[in-house]
Amino acid sequence: MTANPYPLGLRLAGRRVVVVGGGAVATRRVPALLDAGADVLLVAPEISPALRAHADAGRLRWLPRRFTPDDLDGAWLVHVAVDDPAAAASVSTVADARRIFCVRADDRQAASAWTPAVTRHGPVTVAVLGGGDPRRAMTVRDAIRTLLSARKGPLLTDSVEEGPPLNPSAGGNPSAGGNPSAGGNPSAGGNPSAGGKTHTGRVALVGAGPGDPELITVKGWRLITEADVVVADRLVPGLLLDELRSGVELVDASKIPYGPSRAQEEINRILVDRAQAGALVVRLKGGDPYVFGRGGEELLACAEAGIPVTVVPGVTSSVAAPSAAGIPVTHRAVAHEFTVVTGHVAPDSPSSLVRWDALAQLRGTLVILMGLKNLPAITATLLEHGRPADTPAAVVQEATTGAQRVVRSTLGQVAADVAAAGLRPPAVVVVGDVVAALNPA
Ligand code: SAH
Repeated sequence: MTANPYPLGLRLAGRRVVVVGGGAVATRRVPALLDAGADVLLVAPEISPALRAHADAGRLRWLPRRFTPDDLDGAWLVHVAVDDPAAAASVSTVADARRIFCVRADDRQAASAWTPAVTRHGPVTVAVLGGGDPRRAMTVRDAIRTLLSARKGPLLTDSVEEGPPLNPSAGGNPSAGGNPSAGGNPSAGGNPSAGGKTHTGRVALVGAGPGDPELITVKGWRLITEADVVVADRLVPGLLLDELRSGVELVDASKIPYGPSRAQEEINRILVDRAQAGALVVRLKGGDPYVFGRGGEELLACAEAGIPVTVVPGVTSSVAAPSAAGIPVTHRAVAHEFTVVTGHVAPDSPSSLVRWDALAQLRGTLVILMGLKNLPAITATLLEHGRPADTPAAVVQEATTGAQRVVRSTLGQVAADVAAAGLRPPAVVVVGDVVAALNPA
């Protein structure tokens, strides 16, 4: 029977932590120590490639030898991650003599400190001790993680996010956006320096990924569950919108009337308005916000109005659509480059910014977005400027969704094959030897 452990959050920034051992356990432990800013000293004759990478990058100091007692000089904490019980015991004996807490991977009962199972949500860290049973701790941790991931609300929001400085005049109604608890909570996304009462909102430009709702990033997903307003594109996976809290204002950007440029102005206006009223506005865009997504224009519009913006990258269809069809955009000894272009402007149009003649000279992978309508003209231009007609080509429609369709062909035939198969947008065209790299014809 052991007494209960006493939980603590150690603030390790700049403090020496000694890790003895360089194998799998040390490899798992070191990243959290580095994340906490610890001054990590690693003592082990041999270390894993991942640990070596940390050492090479100067993130920790490595002594390539066995442990000696002096290694604990100046240490606040020791992690013993060696298999040999005698070696581990000798480290913990020295640590005990010097009153330094010692975590032991080989023998929890002999350790003076235990590492909890951890889950992190924005600024919140949950640490679970399982009464000496690490599997129990992990089970409880997993349950809490699931609970917190499903939580809709501002509790887990970062209090400080990157972005341009706030415009002090931009503060509005502190409780706008249907988020009554946020008004009294200065850490819920507001700006503490804005006087406490003023609660300026912010905008997150979030990449939703190519179609499969599971292909959004963890950060993007968290922001969706916290949003007061979501402005979504046509290409955003509908299932993601199921995650929204009740009471969230959902703006369907594809339903905004007017032509494309007026519609973009209208979207920018909605982002700025709602954020100025104090809302957390998530602008959810298909793929990555900056790949043919007009994310830059929205960032500039917000910056001009002094609204802080967080950009959350997404998995872009230009890489994911080929990948979902079994086509790697690069492959050793096959392609050392991939080029992504839009095909929405015809190659012979005066407004085209793409040098199709130069692209025809490349031997690597060419990925064309928004290219279905102009595919006959695009392939003809590439052929005319020298790309061989037998170059493998493929078109992937609605990649990573249940409706995905793939047509495999050659540069000479692909336009006809796509028309015959009746493929429709959204679709990605891939040209290059990589198309056949994993699927020889
Ligand atoms: N920002 C997006 C691209 C927007 S442009 C991204 O990074 O993916 C819209 C074009 O993207 C579509 O015309 C199509 O060419 C491509 N696209 C987006 N999603 C797609 C999908 N699931 N399958 C195939 N192509 C897709």
